[in-house]
Amino acid sequence: MKEKVIKRVKTVLESPKSDNGILPAESSPLKPYRLAHTSGDEKTVIDVQGLLVGGPQVVIMAGPCSVENEEQITLIAKAVKEAGGTVLRGGAFKPRTGPYDFQGLGKRGLQLLQKAARSTGLRSITEVMDPRDVDLIVEYADILQIGARNMQNYTLLREVGRTKHPVLLKRGMHSTYKEFLLAAEYILTGGNANVMLCERGIRTHVTELRFTLDLNAVPYLQNETHLPIIVDPSHGTGRRDLVPAMSRAAIAAGADGLLIECHIDPDKSISDAEQAISIEALNQLMREINTIAGAIGRTVAT
Ligand code: PEP
Ligand code: MN
Repeated sequence: MKEKVIKRVKTVLESPKSDNGILPAESSPLKPYRLAHTSGDEKTVIDVQGLLVGGPQVVIMAGPCSVENEEQITLIAKAVKEAGGTVLRGGAFKPRTGPYDFQGLGKRGLQLLQKAARSTGLRSITEVMDPRDVDLIVEYADILQIGARNMQNYTLLREVGRTKHPVLLKRGMHSTYKEFLLAAEYILTGGNANVMLCERGIRTHVTELRFTLDLNAVPYLQNETHLPIIVDPSHGTGRRDLVPAMSRAAIAAGADGLLIECHIDPDKSISDAEQAISIEALNQLMREINTIAGAIGRTVAT
């Protein structure tokens, strides 16, 4: 499938452009996201250092919101591995609402994340916020995360499109599905076919919770695109007591994986403490996810 997408990327890039650089209308299929679109049941499977995302197995990515120090990320990496997760998350460059909030450890955070992931045999994912950091982060992490606030940062999308590195693109908190798929299209047109989409909750009139996790997105996007779909129930709820139920629901809805915030001492998390689940909760959740995956004919990647 990936070869097919790359071929489609090539065909679109090589077709003649009009004066303003935009492809002529007659070469457009019905959908504006011509590379991300699928009309059949073709799927893109992304190879993350041997771990397949988008195939029959669901992939569990877990770890802290932020890399805080060596001990924290090392202990969490071991716990994620023991629980049965396959990807370690941890932010080193953090998009914080306030400029006085902890902004992440930067390059040192990348080094600690890489060391913790390598020593446990986990793959790693971390956010890239600035186009100037793409090459640096490619060196340290297996998946580049584009955060919700940057979903329409077209310079950043083009920059990660230039690499062949796996990308997890989060849905902007105010974005429609079309805008989300068009953002993915920016990465695909750069020649990078390794894009996974992540539903992480949107702003609605429900003020009781941080965001509203839009699980409609999972089956809707699966009909519309061949790209893998991941769900983040942590930002999607903002509350640790709601994370297990929404994780189970996401797998039942057909998500290809989960991105979960967990911590060895959740209340002490420097960022997003309210939504971090404990290691015990992660272990319990992994057992439930195994059961639910089995019920829909899937297994959990190990
Ligand atoms: C995160 O994953 O820690 C994060 C900042 O996510 P989002 O971009 O979805 O808010
Ligand atoms: Mn977070």
